[in-house]
Amino acid sequence: MDRYDVTIIGGGPVGLFGAALASLHGMKTKLIESLPQLGGQLYTLYPEKYVYDVAGFPKVLAKDLAEQLIDQALRYHPTVCLSQTVNDLEMLDDGAYRVHTLSESHESRTILITSGLGSFTPRKLPQASAEPFVDRGIHYFVPAMSHFQGQRVVVVGGGDSALDWALAIAEPAAHVTLVHRRGEFRGQQETVRQLEEHPRVSIRTFSECAEFQGGTRLESVVLIDHRDKSQHVVVADAVVAALGFLPDLGALKTWGLTLDGSSIVVEGPMRTNRPGIYAAGDVVAYEGKEKLIATGFGEIGNALGHIRGYLDPKKRGGLPHSSNIKMD
Ligand SMILES: Cc1cc2nc3c(=O)[nH]c(=O)nc-3n(C[C@H](O)[C@H](O)[C@H](O)COP(=O)(O)OP(=O)(O)OC[C@H]3O[C@@H](n4cnc5c(N)ncnc54)[C@H](O)[C@@H]3O)c2cc1C
Repeated sequence: MDRYDVTIIGGGPVGLFGAALASLHGMKTKLIESLPQLGGQLYTLYPEKYVYDVAGFPKVLAKDLAEQLIDQALRYHPTVCLSQTVNDLEMLDDGAYRVHTLSESHESRTILITSGLGSFTPRKLPQASAEPFVDRGIHYFVPAMSHFQGQRVVVVGGGDSALDWALAIAEPAAHVTLVHRRGEFRGQQETVRQLEEHPRVSIRTFSECAEFQGGTRLESVVLIDHRDKSQHVVVADAVVAALGFLPDLGALKTWGLTLDGSSIVVEGPMRTNRPGIYAAGDVVAYEGKEKLIATGFGEIGNALGHIRGYLDPKKRGGLPHSSNIKMD
């Protein structure tokens, strides 16, 4: 089995920057991601939103930032494994590690955990009638906007994600119905205003989906208004359930790492309590931690500076400036 210097678990923005930096600095690098695509929250949760607080990008669409990060990471040819969720960890006699996914095992001298919110577990629609239509009209992960061309779409939820998706989907869609069980939205009021003024959007507050109906595919949704218990049938080709995601470390919880809830406690240069295992990005906890892309990038620099010295004590003292490295 090929042994790597560093294996990065999670291909979100922080793991991608980690893959770029580790391979740029000559470490033999592997990146393992549980989803079929890289990009983490940027791609999965808010691809169509603008981000304004990443250094060097005054304003950038989340999906474009993800593409830039993927491009930067792949430039230095790390090994990338997609659709593999890391479950088990085994420490070898010489202090290296073997991590296991359902399909493969990977050996590495160090591990860098950048698993963010964990493998994204969407909050499910509670109605039993939803289940047969998952991926036959009901989406927990939003497909490309072109998928909704000319469709009648119901978006469920009251937070920023629901509002953003409703607005983005209203462009290709024939009509969007936004359904929220409360009277007020938790998301940005400016987006609520844009939705209220949109000619192809209807908003139904105090309402919930009571039943999903159809044959082999979804055809309609029965809504119930809690105020007077009245029912209303909406013809629908698609439902986007934007009810949020549950952070879950999954099997990483059982690795003997010091945890703070669903986060991994790190100290100094992003070191966990286990030798050779580091963590960075949304998954970590330390005093003053901010869950931002910018802080995740800084943490990666600290982690890899230390990992490089851990792998080769002659290289202790931090990462050299990249401007001194001759690259194509
Ligand atoms: C709606 C929204 C808007 C946001 N806006 C901003 C903003 O404007 N500015 C900003 O700085 N931040 C913003 N954030 C936060 C930002 O997206 C996160 O801080 C950032 O994505 C964290 O990156 P990460 O790489 O640590 O984790 P993630 O992006 O969560 O990526 C982790 C990756 O690890 C994978 N993974 C998890 N477990 C495993 C496993 N066991 N095996 C293999 N792979 C695994 C996951 O599938 C995922 O792809 C926003 C977040 C949301 C939800």
